[in-house]
Amino acid sequence: MSARSARRSRVIGATALLVVAALFAAGGYYLFSAFQEANRVNCLSIMGTLAASLRMYARDNGAFPPAGRWSDVVAAQVTEANSFVCPARPGLRCGYAFNSALAGMRPEDIKSDPKRTVLLFESDRGWNATGGKELLPSRPRHGGGDCYAFVQEDGGIDGTRWCLRRNEDSCRGEVRWDPTAGGGTGRGRPGSGQGNGSSSEK
Ligand SMILES: [Zn+2]
Repeated sequence: MSARSARRSRVIGATALLVVAALFAAGGYYLFSAFQEANRVNCLSIMGTLAASLRMYARDNGAFPPAGRWSDVVAAQVTEANSFVCPARPGLRCGYAFNSALAGMRPEDIKSDPKRTVLLFESDRGWNATGGKELLPSRPRHGGGDCYAFVQEDGGIDGTRWCLRRNEDSCRGEVRWDPTAGGGTGRGRPGSGQGNGSSSEK
């Protein structure tokens, strides 16, 4: 083998190495994105189960649980050990908080659109955490955003939704924290949408 062809084969070898490295990087990124997406979907599903349990409690007891007790209340109804764990924060026994504005409130007293009013949200404050948006994690957990569960289910979104943190408007301003604020704050008529009315949302 001449010196020239030896050099050429070294160049080809280096190029192949670069291509393989790039493929690994792309594959890693793809796997990471898929992992993040799976976490987000699981989180929404876990929140959906917790929210369903709280709605059931409110139906059976005529009111939402008092502040600082929601995890105990739900734990009495949910059996899976990890049902309070956000997949992005596996070390936390409970990765969610309850909107304190709803504590002890009767569902019929809610004035805001229940399909847009926050019931549960992501938080690092642990078991029974109850409060407002100030309890959101300091950094969003899922691709720059957080997952929410709402007071009432909505056909298209199953009562849960992911919103970009820096811009709750990714949910078109439809995340509401105050259940006593009447409906006129947004588009759409509260209580009027039986399913298809909001099907344009993704
Ligand atoms: Zn989460």
